[in-house]
Amino acid sequence: MPGISGLAAGELEAWFAARGAPGFRARQVADAVWRGKAASAAEIRTLPADLRSELDEAFRFDTVGDTDIRLADGGLTEKALHRLADGALVESVLMHYPARGRQRERHTLCISSQAGCAVGCPFCATGELGFTRDLETAEIVDQVRHAARRLAADGKRLTNVVFMGMGEPLLNLDRVLEAVDALNDPRRFGLGARHITVSTSGVVPGIRRLTAPGPQFTLAVSLHAARDALRDVLVPLNRRWPIDAVVGAARDHARATGRRVSYEVTMISGVNDTEVDALAMAELLRGDHAHVNLIPMNPVAHTPWVASPDDVIERFAATLRDAGIATTIRRNRGAEIGAACGQLAAERAGEPPAAAVARRRERLVGESAAALRGERSHEPSPVGAGE
Ligand code: SAH
Ligand code: SF4
Repeated sequence: MPGISGLAAGELEAWFAARGAPGFRARQVADAVWRGKAASAAEIRTLPADLRSELDEAFRFDTVGDTDIRLADGGLTEKALHRLADGALVESVLMHYPARGRQRERHTLCISSQAGCAVGCPFCATGELGFTRDLETAEIVDQVRHAARRLAADGKRLTNVVFMGMGEPLLNLDRVLEAVDALNDPRRFGLGARHITVSTSGVVPGIRRLTAPGPQFTLAVSLHAARDALRDVLVPLNRRWPIDAVVGAARDHARATGRRVSYEVTMISGVNDTEVDALAMAELLRGDHAHVNLIPMNPVAHTPWVASPDDVIERFAATLRDAGIATTIRRNRGAEIGAACGQLAAERAGEPPAAAVARRRERLVGESAAALRGERSHEPSPVGAGE
């Protein structure tokens, strides 16, 4: 049964019209879906009982109903683990930023686009889980509705949505674009395009596809390294679409849309935070309409790696700024409850066997050492990352 929030513009109206119901019925239901507190069609009291049960038989009102929430950072971070109809687990993280100076308070939700991920970045808990399946449009949108309902109960509104949870959004691009359309449409969720960010590990055909229709949202690219040998290890997709192709596509995107591209760099001590790496990144992005976000790595059970120390991150940022590149350092949120997306689900999946962890650690240490010497990996690019 399709989720009701995944219907394209006009489909709900068509469904009611086909049943001979007056147009205002569709509007009543749309209001309940997008602005109401109802968690099921049965709770839409204004609707006649027969339409209510017909609607319930045709659509799922909420596809992420079964949700477990954990708080961190003194309540400023809420991590939600959603169980989908087939048992797949996905995560969303709601972060509250109190008003500061002239900046108004913000409530940002980080959502998932897939259950698991095929890209397999070794520092990422989701990558370790492997790929389960693409999310349906409604399963993406309902993470947002869920958070919006929780916020509304406190008289607050969601201000930003970022696709930085589980999964590679550009490998589920049709569903992601439908979800963005629903979130952006003033007659549905009604969130401005400037308040939506989609993050990719560098699926070049996907970036090119986003460039054609113009500015719909902010594009973030997970760069992590400016040297191919190292990026091959950190983002295995780099063996298919190397740095020049990714940054080239991002540049074209910035030029065509007039919007600055954000680059994300997860800072891993002794791996991608060296002086050489900072200089390589400064050269790579010099003169670009770009913004770099440095994010200390959240520790993940199966890796030997830890976050770079603060002073190293500060130095890396200074090198980029000296090259005229706008750079910010993003402090981790909710590390104590595993807010790097994928960590709660990984916990539920159980500890990987110790021997497997040891083998992986050994391989990672070897690979990153080889990468630091400038040797490129000969491994094939990850499966499922086609196009
Ligand atoms: N697949 C997409 C979007 C989801 S990941 C992408 O990779 O861009 C969102 C961000 O979280 C990425 O920038 C990713 O590199 C980062 N991330 C993943 N694991 C992390 C960890 N352990 N610590 C810090 N950032 C992490
Ligand atoms: Fe997938 Fe992004 Fe995690 Fe890499 S960082 S494994 S692309 S979710």
